[in-house]
Amino acid sequence: MLTAITGINWGDEGKGRMVDLLSQNYDIVVRYQGGNNAGHTVVNHLGKFILNLLPSGILRPEVVNVMGNGMVIDLAHLCGEIGRLRDAGVAISPKNLKISDKAVICLPYHVMQDVLEEDRLGDAKFGSTRRGIAPVYGDKYLKKAIRMGELKTLPALKERLKGIVEWKNLTVEGAYHAAPVQMEELWSWITQYGGQLVDYVCDTGLYLNQAAAEGKNIMFEAQLGALRDIDFGIYPYTSSSSTIAAYAPIGAGIPNRKLDQVVGIMKAYSTCVGEGPFTAEMFGEEAEALRQAGGEYGAATGRPRRVGGFDVVASRYGVRMQGADEVALTKLDVLSGMEKIPVCVAYEVEGIGRVEEFPWGDELNKAKPIYEYLPGWQADLSHCRRVEDLPAEALSYIRYIEEKVNCKIKYVSVGPERDQYVTME
Ligand code: GDP
Repeated sequence: MLTAITGINWGDEGKGRMVDLLSQNYDIVVRYQGGNNAGHTVVNHLGKFILNLLPSGILRPEVVNVMGNGMVIDLAHLCGEIGRLRDAGVAISPKNLKISDKAVICLPYHVMQDVLEEDRLGDAKFGSTRRGIAPVYGDKYLKKAIRMGELKTLPALKERLKGIVEWKNLTVEGAYHAAPVQMEELWSWITQYGGQLVDYVCDTGLYLNQAAAEGKNIMFEAQLGALRDIDFGIYPYTSSSSTIAAYAPIGAGIPNRKLDQVVGIMKAYSTCVGEGPFTAEMFGEEAEALRQAGGEYGAATGRPRRVGGFDVVASRYGVRMQGADEVALTKLDVLSGMEKIPVCVAYEVEGIGRVEEFPWGDELNKAKPIYEYLPGWQADLSHCRRVEDLPAEALSYIRYIEEKVNCKIKYVSVGPERDQYVTME
């Protein structure tokens, strides 16, 4: 069984929590895109963990975790993440962690370039997490990136890198007038952190293909959501990689295999980090109350997230682009105590009128939300484990959303802990 677990919205839907829950039936968990620009938060009996790069299956000792070729990996960050988990008692070795030899390395100068560019943009900034993700993906497609497998042939890597650094300094010095990248400093960074990771590096595509042929269950874990996809998201306020399920076999290194199932993770309300159009956004006291209730602060950056009611237009589009077979609705418990629950059912665009299909570009920038309100509930949902435990209003809210986004809601998450969920019939 090959299953992708992907985000339907702008990210932060609770994918990490659902992967942690659902991975119990899987042998392998694969991250297939992105870098350490976002974080999954997983809470279980070992504690609370923020995973930026490692697949969420790392917290289950029997699961093999793969970091796919679609990823970009900051070596120092990964070493730190592994160290923190080890300190908490999680065993990590090449047996349960495999890194693709074709995954790209995110270097310190990518981070520097990200910061230089955001600073140059000033008020027009993108709201980048400044982790070097856009510059490193840019270099990948310019064919000026280095890959994990090159750590195995250091003399050849050093030669190639010298030429790349020379080229990079044309931009760093020439365009930004910043201090040039020093090869020796860069090299000691690569050998220090790369040396700790090289034993994990292998042909993960081959490994996964064999595992799939043996009938192993493989889960593909996305970072961020459909609306951050480089092609289909709110470009240019997107991530720099493909966050959609269809990319999973490619980013994992098995383009010859097809997914059996896509589970979309969708939040019971909307949140968005950073700049860009976010039509359902709410402001003032109502927004602050929702932000507080949901603890909506970025896992990677601590930034307060923008919040809004559930967005039918964006979520229906997200479900379609992900090709979701079923949905897990997360954080429903956060809405408890609201008298009426706002739902953005359509957009109003000046000069066009009511819009029900997710627009892009200027049309999206001009879109205003059309809100409707559903009755709320007062009961605390965090103890609900069966459909019968849910208040009638919560059940109506679930059914309403299910119908609007045109996809079965299979799970409803009512808290961050592993067992805090309801399976819908
Ligand atoms: P991800 O990147 O999609 O994994 O999402 P994040 O980790 O950024 O954000 C999800 C946050 O919500 C984490 O702090 C989770 O522990 C928490 N969380 C996940 N599901 C639920 C839920 O159903 N209820 C509540 N209250 N918190 C949840």
